[in-house]
Amino acid sequence: MSAEIIDGRACAARLKQAVALEAKDLRERGLPCALSTVMVGDDYSAAAYERRLRRAADELDIPYRRHALPRGAGQRQVTEAIADLNADPEVTGVLVLRPLPAGVREADVFRTLSPLKDIEAVNPENAGLLALGTPRYVPSTAASAFHLLDSWLDDAGEDRTAFYRRSLIVVVGRSNNVGKPLVSLAYHRQAAVESVDEWASRSATGLGPHLRRADVVIVAAGQAGLITGEHVKEGAVVIDVGINPVTDDATGRLRMVGDADFASVAARARAVSPVPGGVGPVTDIWLMRNTVAAARLLSGAAAAC
Ligand code: NAD
Repeated sequence: MSAEIIDGRACAARLKQAVALEAKDLRERGLPCALSTVMVGDDYSAAAYERRLRRAADELDIPYRRHALPRGAGQRQVTEAIADLNADPEVTGVLVLRPLPAGVREADVFRTLSPLKDIEAVNPENAGLLALGTPRYVPSTAASAFHLLDSWLDDAGEDRTAFYRRSLIVVVGRSNNVGKPLVSLAYHRQAAVESVDEWASRSATGLGPHLRRADVVIVAAGQAGLITGEHVKEGAVVIDVGINPVTDDATGRLRMVGDADFASVAARARAVSPVPGGVGPVTDIWLMRNTVAAARLLSGAAAAC
């Protein structure tokens, strides 16, 4: 089998058109809609993510504000910055970029974020709503992985509901921001779900016995080449969330690869999302979609006061 490539760029372009219309509608009605990121220090990946978000916001005409704190900022400075953004009526979505410095307790920062502006659902109230299957906002990476899969099923003429109900989805990686939301989204689609992490990898049998039964593998471990063709059942669908920098042997330059060894997985799978060009492009647009959704919620909340 030679897998179909699940095209994240095309999926992101379609989503972007829909979000652009929603953002335009808010502008025309004079309702505020703006994204603010909070970054502490100068982490390379956080800065790259910040630049991508600025670009996506610019392209959608969504105002973007960068809130940068020095590397030495402590708990109080970070929570004060969040309090300012909570109170700012022009800002509708707030994203706290990771990593935070060692001295800042992430969970305490997330707790202070206004649940209505918490577009990555990191505040316990929003994380709880997601776990209950009634999300206010779906975190962008997990949402994008499933949006990509849902869209591919639609394009393939598959009945989504029937597909999920008969499928075993194995999620590799169990972080609060990616793996756990993926698991929630999988079981709220009524799929059979297994969640595995590095401990399953380290066990005597490794990931193979879990993955070889899976109809869908979603991998978000941050380990280049973790999943190979021999792990994957013939005809499975593989969604690769991982983004790992590796040095290209030919050019000596850094390039990004996923957690799946693309060539060997594609030789057995029915469909696979590539890296780059899979989940990543959808994620940035999804965050804008959540910013627009937050603007709607906040304008409704303001009108009700
Ligand atoms: P994380 O480090 O917080 O969590 C990684 C998870 O994978 C943990 O549960 C860990 O136990 C598990 N894991 C690590 N090694 C493993 C192994 N050998 N076998 C099985 N499980 C293993 O990372 P994260 O924030 O969840 O991100 C995961 C990956 O997704 C990273 O590559 C990150 O860059 C990428 N990511 C992509 C997007 C996107 O838009 N595509 C967005 C966010 C994160």
